[in-house]
Amino acid sequence: MKKIALLGSTGSIGQSTLSICEAYPDRFLPVAFAAGSNVELAFDQCLRWHPQIVSMATEQHAEALSHRLEVAALYDTDVVYGTAGTVQVATLPDADFVVSAIVGVAGLEATYAAVLAGKTVGLANKECLVAAGDLILAAARERGVALLPIDSEHNAVHQCLRGGAANEVKQIWLTASGGPFRNTPLADFANITPAQALKHPTWVMGQRITIDSATMLNKGLEIIEACRLFDLPPAQVRVTVHPQSTIHSLVEYIDGSILAQISVTDMRLPILYALSWPERMASELTFDMSALSQLDFQQPDFERFPCLRLAYEAASTSQAHCIALNAADEVAVDAFLAGKLSFVGIPRTIEHVLALTIGGSPASIPEVLEADHAARELAAEIVAKQ
Ligand code: NAD
Ligand code: MG
Repeated sequence: MKKIALLGSTGSIGQSTLSICEAYPDRFLPVAFAAGSNVELAFDQCLRWHPQIVSMATEQHAEALSHRLEVAALYDTDVVYGTAGTVQVATLPDADFVVSAIVGVAGLEATYAAVLAGKTVGLANKECLVAAGDLILAAARERGVALLPIDSEHNAVHQCLRGGAANEVKQIWLTASGGPFRNTPLADFANITPAQALKHPTWVMGQRITIDSATMLNKGLEIIEACRLFDLPPAQVRVTVHPQSTIHSLVEYIDGSILAQISVTDMRLPILYALSWPERMASELTFDMSALSQLDFQQPDFERFPCLRLAYEAASTSQAHCIALNAADEVAVDAFLAGKLSFVGIPRTIEHVLALTIGGSPASIPEVLEADHAARELAAEIVAKQ
């Protein structure tokens, strides 16, 4: 029985992870949760799973959850909060496997702590690799900790890499759906509303990643995520737009062979792969072969999606630029969703923050968080001026 600490239990990946635990009750048991502010859902999850510990985003949310648990006479769950709480969840001695699915840099410290504690980590949170991938990978190598990608493209690459040696890889191809605005005339981009941007054509996900898919910054973050996870330079991480999201990514080997991973468009599959690795477990997530009748591929359009160019530039410039890229986007996406910034203001804000970023490579997690904080302040000032 694998005992799981689930960071981001109330989110889209968190709920999919619990549905896998539900489907394989003899194999996976969630024993600890970190959630944000959704007290009702966190309470329902406690009722169902009786975790040893739950962390909420703030003291106020923790108090609200404690109260609900007391009224229901559930006394076996400790309730904690804040970043320290997420770290307690990630390092719970009884947990063997940590699923990292808090959104944003808010998930960084807990993910790093899980690696330091020697837990096997299933990584959905890409922001922690963008901001501190070198530190996380170094700590994982030192301790022999497996980092298993849950992000579908990286999960696909992880699977395809079983087909050859690292020095036989020529390059990898990340597929991108192209988001809802793949064919929208550029002239209409300034008027895109949050409601339009929240309609992803192929995946149902949390709000931030859905907006990031619409600007294609998500693919940009994934380029950096791939560079860190698979130890490749940005030039060997390519992007191809594949609107059907049927092929989840490809690995091209030096002999000219290309291996692709194909499966249903359902995050439960990469979650199951990570949880059961190095085994494969039988599932009902069957792929319908008729979906192979149409597979389209296009070059990404860097003019329509400047975030892709900005991500390649950040990846080739410095670690500080990667941190700033993500931090500026977190601020800009929040402002866009709050109606305070236009859709085209998102790349504009990121570009401005990157131009003002001094390079460098933070040597510790507190230094990463300091750089992240500085970039957020800069982004907030720039947003306020638009
Ligand atoms: P989501 O918004 O649905 O869920 C985010 C989770 O994080 C929630 O449980 C929320 O309560 C928690 N959270 C937010 N702020 C927190 C804080 N300060 N402290 C503690 N918990 C906090 O997001 P999601 O779509 O599930 O994505 C989660 C992560 O997985 C993101 O990094 C995303 O890029 C990545 N990812 C998601 C998908 C997907 O299909 N949803 C696919 C690939 C990668
Ligand atoms: Mg992805």
